[in-house]
Amino acid sequence: METEKATELGFCTGVRRAIDILEKAAQQSGPLVTLGPVVHNQRVMEKLSRFGIRAVENIEQPEGSTVAISSHGVSPVVVERMKAHGLQIVDTTCPFVRRAQVAARRLADAGFFVVIFGEESHPEVEGVLGWAKGKGLATLELPRLDEGLQRIGILSQTTQVFSSFTAFVSSFADSYLASVLELRVVNTVCDATRRRQEAALDLARRVDMMLVVGSRKSANTRRLTEICAAVVETHLIDGADEIDALQFGTDWRIGVTAGASTPDEAIEEVITRLNKVN
Ligand code: SF4
Repeated sequence: METEKATELGFCTGVRRAIDILEKAAQQSGPLVTLGPVVHNQRVMEKLSRFGIRAVENIEQPEGSTVAISSHGVSPVVVERMKAHGLQIVDTTCPFVRRAQVAARRLADAGFFVVIFGEESHPEVEGVLGWAKGKGLATLELPRLDEGLQRIGILSQTTQVFSSFTAFVSSFADSYLASVLELRVVNTVCDATRRRQEAALDLARRVDMMLVVGSRKSANTRRLTEICAAVVETHLIDGADEIDALQFGTDWRIGVTAGASTPDEAIEEVITRLNKVN
């Protein structure tokens, strides 16, 4: 049995940046909390806990304490509430997410209704929607919009599959372009996501099974799994321990990719375990 890693996989620049900022902040100012998990990966959160960094669910923290915004970002209302609570803010919002937030704000300010192609309940999407100041919605299906909307702007959750975004835009235009004055599309799928998806698909086409290493809570990890599963048998695994439950053919080629929040050690443990299967 042979194994091959995707040419791009694992930690993206946004996640590395967020972890660096948090570790430096904890070293300078002591223990701090993050608003929600800074990335959707238990192993990363456990590692951060050694620096005194832990996740909390809300901003009801003692005045003066340090609270970090995750790489997924938050709405401006949350930032204002954090300031009103007298909290010290460490902002690790990924620059790609910030770009989507700014695009949503500019569209809303220019009178556009903002449609985000994404998961309504994902923290990033909730945050970006907040930047549209209530003039928008998030959906993965073609929405039913009020008649009379004249200007509509479309964005994507950063981790969506690019081809799914273009298909959404295309069917949206088919349904609404004739009845609006202006339809504006901003490509906010992040580059790291797109490159990981392309590399995973390329590998999936050449192997007998794909393993996607990462958390089931991670949106980009689930997307990688969907992309690979359309081509070949694919399993999303949290780590090397889940390999024992899988069935392999003796001469199979196994492809390995990993979500943007999956640490290098988890990927290497999977490769090492696979190399011992034969
Ligand atoms: S997947 Fe993209 S948007 Fe998300 S943290 Fe990484 S670089 Fe940023």
